[in-house]
Amino acid sequence: MTEKRAGRGGATLLASNQPNDQMELPMSSTPKTFDLNSNTAIPAVGFGTYLISNDDAEMAINAAIMAGYRHIDTASGYQNEETVGAGIRKGLQSAGISRADLFVTAKLWPGNPAWGDAPKTGTQTIEECEASLARLGLDYVDLYLIHAPYGGDMRLEQWRALLKLQAGGKARAIGVSNFNQSHLEEIKSAGLPMPDANQIELHPWSQKPDLLANMAKHDIAPIAYSSLVPLSTWRVEEGQDSAKTDDMKADGTAFKGLAQEYGVSEAQLLLRWGVKNGYAVLPKSLNPDRMRQNLDLFSFVIDDADMAQIATMDRGKGVAWASGDPSK
Ligand code: NAP
Repeated sequence: MTEKRAGRGGATLLASNQPNDQMELPMSSTPKTFDLNSNTAIPAVGFGTYLISNDDAEMAINAAIMAGYRHIDTASGYQNEETVGAGIRKGLQSAGISRADLFVTAKLWPGNPAWGDAPKTGTQTIEECEASLARLGLDYVDLYLIHAPYGGDMRLEQWRALLKLQAGGKARAIGVSNFNQSHLEEIKSAGLPMPDANQIELHPWSQKPDLLANMAKHDIAPIAYSSLVPLSTWRVEEGQDSAKTDDMKADGTAFKGLAQEYGVSEAQLLLRWGVKNGYAVLPKSLNPDRMRQNLDLFSFVIDDADMAQIATMDRGKGVAWASGDPSK
């Protein structure tokens, strides 16, 4: 273990969203969590399921739960809910844990008039959530999100429907994804309770400081997706679209030196950066070694000087959506 890897100085996390287990035990197997509301906490490291095919999902989710993941992030838009649900059942059985030990996120596809896809009404939103629960084989989800702010005139109706789903026990926490400040202000101006979380693209190349400051003001927890964008291995299979620029692709080993100093992989460094900033992260991998590696983030702490250096690397909007960052 290098000095940096062992170091614990500068482990200050954002006051608004500190991990519940502040003691950073080396190689701790204790899952760390961030609060979403008074009775729901989200694991700091979860497992993403976007681009996991129906052929792979059951095996991958089972392997992830066996590796120690206790949060599975999915969405109706990923078109794999049934096989993700099968993986959840298998994983719970293999690991000998109960449903209550697992945190599951699902997402409403809100529609998008710009794509000729009519926005979901409030009634349709409730039906969509129930359909997702049926496909997943679950009675409730721990977090239900509006996947993107594409609902236009129906956006507030959709949010009101999520409040009903939470009141009815179908979702323990509710939130949004890819919402920017104006979308959040719209909810506030309508006098409605604010989301528990906003899942957005966050990594050193897309840091969104203004949006995060606004979310902190409203006590909205940040959940980071596509934390691994800077890796040369990020979405390299055919058909895995994104708006990653040639400049970014040419910068594939950007965090190599820093990772070496801490004796960790670039992926671990990027994920630890997110968790240290107070963001729950959602790495996706089909490779069991990488699954385990991405979960092993608590044996080192990035020091303040390196965090400050990474803070200067922001390049603005996210690239995970080929159509452009929906929060911009
Ligand atoms: P990601 O987790 O940032 O990166 C996944 C890519 O990195 C894959 O190509 C994976 O390949 C590779 N990888 C994973 N671990 C690695 C490691 N340790 N070393 C080297 N390469 C590694 O990707 P993401 O799928 O974009 O985002 C994660 C999750 O966030 C999604 O699965 C989804 O659940 C969620 N998400 C949400 C939204 C939204 O709009 N709300 C958008 C995008 C994503 P292998 O599989 O070969 O390891």
